[in-house]
Amino acid sequence: MKKRQEQTDILILGAGFGGVCTAKYLLRFTRKIPNVKITLIDRNTYHFFTPLLHEIATASIHSDHIKRPLRMLFNQENVEFHQGEIKDVDLKNQTVEICTNCTNCDTPPKYDHHTYINKADFISDRRQAFRYDYLVLAMGSDPNFYGVTGADKYSYTLSSIKTSEEIKARILECFELANQTNNLQLKKELLTFVVIGAGATGTEYIVELHDLCKNVLAEEFEFVKFNRDCRIILVEAMDQILPNMDPYLVKYAMKHLQENKIEIMTSTKVTKITGCTIELNGKISIPTHNILWAAGVKANNLVASLPLKENSDGRVKVNSFLQTIDRPEIFALGDNACFMPKEGENPLMQTAQVAVQESRTAAMNIVKHFNGTKLHHFKYVFLGSTVSLGERKGVANLIGKFELKGFSAWFSWKLTYLRHLLIIEKLSRALWDWSFDLLYNRQMARFKLH
Ligand SMILES: Cc1cc2nc3c(=O)[nH]c(=O)nc-3n(C[C@H](O)[C@H](O)[C@H](O)COP(=O)(O)OP(=O)(O)OC[C@H]3O[C@@H](n4cnc5c(N)ncnc54)[C@H](O)[C@@H]3O)c2cc1C
Repeated sequence: MKKRQEQTDILILGAGFGGVCTAKYLLRFTRKIPNVKITLIDRNTYHFFTPLLHEIATASIHSDHIKRPLRMLFNQENVEFHQGEIKDVDLKNQTVEICTNCTNCDTPPKYDHHTYINKADFISDRRQAFRYDYLVLAMGSDPNFYGVTGADKYSYTLSSIKTSEEIKARILECFELANQTNNLQLKKELLTFVVIGAGATGTEYIVELHDLCKNVLAEEFEFVKFNRDCRIILVEAMDQILPNMDPYLVKYAMKHLQENKIEIMTSTKVTKITGCTIELNGKISIPTHNILWAAGVKANNLVASLPLKENSDGRVKVNSFLQTIDRPEIFALGDNACFMPKEGENPLMQTAQVAVQESRTAAMNIVKHFNGTKLHHFKYVFLGSTVSLGERKGVANLIGKFELKGFSAWFSWKLTYLRHLLIIEKLSRALWDWSFDLLYNRQMARFKLH
């Protein structure tokens, strides 16, 4: 058995799905072990529910309703939370350096002169170091622009609450500008919205965007006519939308989108993006001021830069115990990890259900490694996937066996998300937003408040 030190430090980097669930499981599994310190670090002060970011961007849901302050989440529990930007991981000395109060944070502290708080009284960009005996890499992913010129500069991504709020503000701004011009060409450019990527996120995003533009905004702005001025375009490099869904469900989703006059461009590659155009397949150029990127993710940049064995896409390779290769004290899970169920098979997808399932095994194996007992092999169970198509319709594949379409699929989508939200917060305020939308239309007030 391992010689017990005075204190064992377990450091979790990232408080997304994987990080928060690992902390929760570690609390449970280390209850009877003395002198274990669990520390969780994230750039944000809150945990947020990424699958609903597009609903913030399209004003379906209020951003406060999908986030939960991390200090409250671990209130009175034995997890120490630190807010800061993770800057460096020193594998040799087993330390991690963070920077607090820096501009990369989604919500840097506000220095409000009305309350007589002076920024100069606070230490900005303060460096702080943490040592670890066990490290959990759960830092998620970064958007993947696949080297498309101009994509990182001119397209909007759904990567945080902040970017989702920016998209919402941008949509409203474009409608305001379009309302103030008689130039029909400019009006059309301002109201052409292009979503890139027709996976589950891109598809849900486009239907919500269509609904918002047609049924809420076009109704509110006197000089905008939806059919004349708006174009809603979904671009996909592959030859179909929803590439991981059954063809029968894809056909249903396609029909629904086409009935709503959403333009679908499959087998279409984005080749260049500028501030006011998008170039497709190196030939077609569409004038637009709104390019919304939902085309996929790559490993977190900092994790990809660490001297650990990685897959070609930068994700850290892990063994069947979720330990990094050659570093048994470092565990990796979720989007920044590459777990192959079997040699030669594709790695697991970057989804929340993978991160959550991995977190239990990672927490269990840290404790087993500490106790010197046999580690547990991770086994992934696919629970299914659901996609909302708006108007209370959807498509769903439950546990890889049952296929649903229409209202039942949409309802199972809501139930799945609500279940997750309720784990984070006992009475989900998202339920309030969704109930309100069922009874009334989306509220313009949500725009005006932010
Ligand atoms: C718009 C969108 C929709 C999605 N929809 C679905 C869905 O419907 N179903 C599904 O299963 N999955 C969905 N996903 C994928 C899912 O969100 C991820 O697979 C999941 O969040 C991965 O969990 P994770 O813990 O690995 O990373 P994350 O949940 O992303 O957490 C990573 C954490 O690390 C923190 N972090 C990163 N870098 C630093 C740093 N340098 N310093 C400090 N903190 C840092 C981040 O702030 C974040 O809190 C969606 C993702 C997006 C973006």
